[in-house]
Amino acid sequence: VSAAALNTLAIVGVGLIGGSFAAALRSAGLVRRVIGVGRSRANLERAVELGVIDQISSDAAQAAAEADLVFVAVPVQQTETVLGSIAPHLRDDAIVCDAGSTKGDVVAAAQRALGARFVQFVPAHPIAGAELSGVGAASASLYRDRLVVLTPTDATRTEAVERVQALWAACGARVVRMDAARHDAVFAAVSHLPHVLAFALVHQIAQRPDAADLFSFAGAGFRDFTRIAGSSPEMWRDIALANKDALLIELGAYRAELDALARCIAEGDGQGLAGMFESARSARQKWLKR
Ligand code: NAD
Repeated sequence: VSAAALNTLAIVGVGLIGGSFAAALRSAGLVRRVIGVGRSRANLERAVELGVIDQISSDAAQAAAEADLVFVAVPVQQTETVLGSIAPHLRDDAIVCDAGSTKGDVVAAAQRALGARFVQFVPAHPIAGAELSGVGAASASLYRDRLVVLTPTDATRTEAVERVQALWAACGARVVRMDAARHDAVFAAVSHLPHVLAFALVHQIAQRPDAADLFSFAGAGFRDFTRIAGSSPEMWRDIALANKDALLIELGAYRAELDALARCIAEGDGQGLAGMFESARSARQKWLKR
């Protein structure tokens, strides 16, 4: 399905993800007018300066009433409030979509908040991002050659799913569909776990009395491992709590792996260690080449 141009796109949460979506559609010539809704006036003014949005609205309901597509890109625990405030104002033919990093909680929130309008909601998660936040970090090319996972339910309008899929494709993304529960299990393992581990590592070093000394000796390995601990604490708090069950399973699996590693070290089991490291390295090389 090729994407038809949108007359009015409303972006609720004009940060890295929302700003990049607007910028990408604009550069593809697929949107006539973009209304931005947000919490921070300064960020929205910056979005106008950057040409990412045309208009600022302080009222999500009013912006939604004018929009043919409402794109919600706020920290996931804000989703229900935002959807609740726009629900009574949506047009019959409007589409609502999101970009939240978790999907089970978002779908449940949308069911509660949107009621009969739930059929117009297309849940999505772009697998693209950065440890940077705010519209200043947004880019029209963020989604190019990246994956976007859609998790529609049986109730979701087919035309809405197809329209959203075409818009993401126009941003340069490859779109796949998945069940929300599977999505949350997969991303707990490959995204949510590594983020909380990076935060935990930096946190446990930062708490020590000699932290400054330790940090002064940290090199490239530390920088690479901890890059994602530069991410938004609010966003990651919300993700960890929203995907609690799946994330706790992954933390348990990682803890077991650490225990096995510690046992190898304590017992001087070089073969065990080398085996683990070798299998990890080759799996990573294969992943990089894929
Ligand atoms: P961001 O901090 O850059 O932008 C979020 C924006 O939402 C901010 O401008 C904030 O002021 C605004 N906001 C917060 N609560 C609001 C509310 N109630 N009403 C209106 N505006 C509100 O964050 P981001 O990286 O763009 O993330 C947005 C969403 O995208 C999150 O759900 C996140 O899980 C998801 N996501 C992020 C990444 C990433 O790598 N950053 C990747 C994929 C998906």
